[in-house]
Amino acid sequence: MLVLKFGGTSVGSVENMTNVKNIIRGEGKKIVVLSAMSGTTNALVNISENIKNGEKEMAISNIDTLYQKHLVTIDELLHKSELKQEVGNYINLVFDFLKSRVNESYSELLYNKIVSQGELLSTFIFSHYLTQEGLNARLLPALDFMRIDRNGDPDNFYIHRNLNRVIDEILPADIYITQGFICLDADGNIANLERGGSDYTATIIGSVINADEVQIWTDIDGFHNNDPRCVENTHAISNLSFDEAAELAYFGAKILHPQTVMPVRKFDIPVRLKNTMSPEAHGTLINSEIHGDGIKAIAAKDNITAIKIKSARMLQAHGFLKKVFEIFEKYETSIDMITTSEIAISLTIDDATYLKSITEELKKFALVAIDQNQSIVCLVGHSIIFHEDTHKLFQVLKDVNIRMISYGGSNNNISLLVHMDDKVATLKKVHSYVFEAVSLVS
Ligand code: ADP
Ligand code: ASP
Ligand code: MG
Repeated sequence: MLVLKFGGTSVGSVENMTNVKNIIRGEGKKIVVLSAMSGTTNALVNISENIKNGEKEMAISNIDTLYQKHLVTIDELLHKSELKQEVGNYINLVFDFLKSRVNESYSELLYNKIVSQGELLSTFIFSHYLTQEGLNARLLPALDFMRIDRNGDPDNFYIHRNLNRVIDEILPADIYITQGFICLDADGNIANLERGGSDYTATIIGSVINADEVQIWTDIDGFHNNDPRCVENTHAISNLSFDEAAELAYFGAKILHPQTVMPVRKFDIPVRLKNTMSPEAHGTLINSEIHGDGIKAIAAKDNITAIKIKSARMLQAHGFLKKVFEIFEKYETSIDMITTSEIAISLTIDDATYLKSITEELKKFALVAIDQNQSIVCLVGHSIIFHEDTHKLFQVLKDVNIRMISYGGSNNNISLLVHMDDKVATLKKVHSYVFEAVSLVS
């Protein structure tokens, strides 16, 4: 069985939904995971912000704009009146629900309920569209099987048992349509896999049903060698190993949710990235094979906080690092980059929720300096640390103010920490040198 995931742009217009229908109508059973229509989750996040800030009129007006967008879509997409009526009723229910929440006091649960509506809407609309077009498709409600545990990790036992149960219970179909992103938490409340989480839904399902392949269909022809939003002349990479893709996704390549590769890597289930608007393009195949060495791609992750911790005594003083790490452990804050000198240690975190408490605890035995608004620029490729040209990188970067470098932590990754204002320039410089053979080195 195949799992195919279509992102926001792919279900964001009638034309693109038609492309999706043509892609999935072929032979074989498949599970199709859909995101919300493009812009919808952002709009829902804004609505929940409006509620949080007591901006009731703004919330109602934003709800109405989103309502109109969905009505216009079904008007164009559905021409059978009973189907249009049924989907219209569902859309009304969802938007009545949203309006009824405007006076409620804000909570995380309310946020989760609000942002989940985007995927519920897109899958309801799209599955009815497939029925109209004569395809044998059924809705597979993600909330009947997708659950995370107390650590936020997929509860594979629960998902396995319930996904198979739900498939057995509903009428057999060629195509099962389900919601990406949304899930239940360990207490059975509605939750989600964080922004961009539909990719993760697809690979979790792929691993649980032992899919032949997971396909991620998006608005670009595969994984590019740099962020196309920041750098010109990027191109799609035809093959990536699981390790390379995992590093790039973790370090900010927006095309994949950071955890996407995890569920399928251990089962060797390939992931193929494809372009819904250009299905004939090769795209990117991610599997366990290794193709070539040297720097293959560059990605960047923003909003990083760097913490310099200077030992009041010598760093060598035994137990110092242990004490530092225990504090991060206590606040469940993971560390991305780390460098040490004789008297100080610098490290980065991307979740600064507990920064204040962490700093207070560190200050009990060390001097602490914080730099916010940093970016990690990450260069990835098989064995790049051994590649003959890699050392020249540091000359290329002579004009960039680098706060930290991590080299050798893994053979496949070199990470640079720069101020967010320098990120685009750094990406461009490294790109020209590595991929366009521009000799910046004198
Ligand atoms: P979807 O809605 O289909 O999940 P996303 O917007 O999440 O799509 O991801 C696709 C976008 O990721 C592309 O349009 C592109 O702008 C951005 N992107 C960032 N880095 C990369 C990269 N290295 N390769 C391809 N796309 C990238
Ligand atoms: N709709 C969700 C988001 O915008 C999940 C996704 O698109 O993958 O974050
Ligand atoms: Mg995405």
